[in-house]
Amino acid sequence: DYAAPLNRDYHIDRHRVTLEELLGEGQFGDVYRGTYEPSESSGVLAVAVKACKVESEETQASNFLEEAYIMQQFQHPHIIKLVGVCFESPIWIVMELAPFGELRSYLIRNKGVLDLATLLLYCHQLSGALSYLDSRKFVHRDIAARNVLVSTHQCVKLSDFGLSRWIEHESFYTASRGKLPIKWMAPESINFRRFTPASDMWMFGVCIWEIMMRGVKPWHGTRNQDVVHKLEAGERLAMPPAEFCPPQLYALLCQMWTYEPNQRPTIGEVKEVLHEVLVEERNH
Ligand code: ADP
Repeated sequence: DYAAPLNRDYHIDRHRVTLEELLGEGQFGDVYRGTYEPSESSGVLAVAVKACKVESEETQASNFLEEAYIMQQFQHPHIIKLVGVCFESPIWIVMELAPFGELRSYLIRNKGVLDLATLLLYCHQLSGALSYLDSRKFVHRDIAARNVLVSTHQCVKLSDFGLSRWIEHESFYTASRGKLPIKWMAPESINFRRFTPASDMWMFGVCIWEIMMRGVKPWHGTRNQDVVHKLEAGERLAMPPAEFCPPQLYALLCQMWTYEPNQRPTIGEVKEVLHEVLVEERNH
């Protein structure tokens, strides 16, 4: 019974959910924009509904529900919230809608109007979400601009817990299969499938770089297998143009990309520097 770990409060009556247009396709299911009416008198909520694609295999359904189970644990202003689940086939996971969609395409669409202070605000908000996950001994493992959604022009949220796993204190999760986001990954994750809070910091550095570059993909034009050689030779993602990224921030990114995992800054330190850079830019 794979529904067991989910809190009963999260059961949703499918008749109260309406699907509208398709927003995107995920690994385990298609995501639709929709509405949810919790009760007759409650009014209507704007939601995103992930509909499980293949349910022929029980493992597929349990993978799908695992993401909902993970989301259910978190309550943070910069993490997408679970609203509930329709358990009967087809399984639907109902979550908070981020009306402006994926951050990467949002950055590209709004290149001309987004100022540096707003981009730094996004980075600082994400550092808050990651600091929250870290305090709950949680490794995300897939921090990238494609997994950040835009709720309002002044608010982004972390999503996609498909790859994340709980970790035990001082231990790490060893991934064995599946497609991995090599260009975002720390060297020890690529080489030894080691995922820790320190490898999350490396990935967050790449995610900040994507944000400062307004949606440019990291290592564009480089093959996956060449990335690790470049990293081992000491090469790093290039410094963005000065008007795109304060030098102090690029210095922080380079620290987050220290080869040795235990010499990288902690999320607390990263959050502090991001706050300083943000305040400085606002006073500019
Ligand atoms: P994947 O499984 O490929 O990581 P997801 O299943 O999380 O992707 O989502 C697929 C797409 O649906 C996203 O890229 C995004 O465009 C859209 N989407 C997902 N969740 C939401 C949400 N809460 N609000 C708005 N759009 C969403």
